[in-house]
Amino acid sequence: MTVPVAGPVGELPARGQAMHLRGTLLPEGEPGELWVIDGVIHTEPVPGAIMACDGGYILPGLVDAHCHVGIGPQGTVSLAEAAEQAATDRDAGTLLIRDCGSPTDTRPLQSRHDLPRIIRAGRHLTRPKRYIPTIGVELDEPELLPQAVQEQAAAGDGWVKLVGDWIDRASGDLAPLWSDDVLAEAVAAAHAAGVRVTAHVFGADALPGLIRAGIDCIEHGTGLTADTISEMALRGTSLVPTLINIETFPAIAERASKYPRYAAHMRALHARAHATVGAAIEAGIPLYAGSDAGGGIRHGRLVDEIVALRAAGLSGAQALGAASWAARDWLGVPGLLPGAPAGLLVTRTDPRVDPDTLRDPVMLLLRGQPW
Ligand SMILES: [Zn+2]
Repeated sequence: MTVPVAGPVGELPARGQAMHLRGTLLPEGEPGELWVIDGVIHTEPVPGAIMACDGGYILPGLVDAHCHVGIGPQGTVSLAEAAEQAATDRDAGTLLIRDCGSPTDTRPLQSRHDLPRIIRAGRHLTRPKRYIPTIGVELDEPELLPQAVQEQAAAGDGWVKLVGDWIDRASGDLAPLWSDDVLAEAVAAAHAAGVRVTAHVFGADALPGLIRAGIDCIEHGTGLTADTISEMALRGTSLVPTLINIETFPAIAERASKYPRYAAHMRALHARAHATVGAAIEAGIPLYAGSDAGGGIRHGRLVDEIVALRAAGLSGAQALGAASWAARDWLGVPGLLPGAPAGLLVTRTDPRVDPDTLRDPVMLLLRGQPW
């Protein structure tokens, strides 16, 4: 059902001008109203507010749970390009980014009121020749991992990113980077520092050690099996499947003809990716939407990931929550609550039914300012 939507769109209200929004509030799905003044949400009427939006669906701004601000198709980019990437994500409705590792120090972007909020994980922790060159911190000895985790914990905003597996050119296939003992020590060091840990993992072999070490999240997770899915479900480990990135696996395999075992492995992981994510959903693993924008994926494609998560088995409301309110809860960032920064979208139709409506919102407010 299309709801008539009135009011100015993209017009900057005067500073200090209060706004009144009325529509169907998500996730509850009930009619409601909000007021915004000085960038903050109010649930009680604010005198003198202009009716900025009347009708439609009002939801907390989208969350890209796996994004790289500071990485482009050629690798590391300048801070100015990183800002452009974040602006592209903003224009596509992403108002909160969990940056899953960047070689660029994007801390200066965190004070830019025109850009999405960025929760940074510092730099990827990897070993020489075991990730995209120049992106990560390459540890000569795997035993240095716990110390490196502490350093990245201090440099980021509550998350540390490990490379869990990558092609090992000596064996010609995906292989884990770290021993189980080192992982246990590294995850314990992160938790002692009050930060969470996640890891890039494509294959099956790196998963048991990471999950049993108490890791908080797995990125991609194409190698999940019935056993590791049960273990994650039991422990409440999260998964960010980045399905639109998994779609690039056949192209990766195509370029890897020197490593036929790896190429065949990547094709097999790709072929069963939707079934793997379907089994993770079935088991009740908490899933979040991440585009993996930065390298092979261009910025601004989060809605494509919402569509892919629905195709893999999440309901419309779950897939939207995985890219909005549920992801905010997971990251500890409030949605449409009184006193919260006003970061929200208004759509014409119900985005739980029609995710494509998110591509053309009626209104997008970032810190109370329309875009
Ligand atoms: Zn990534």
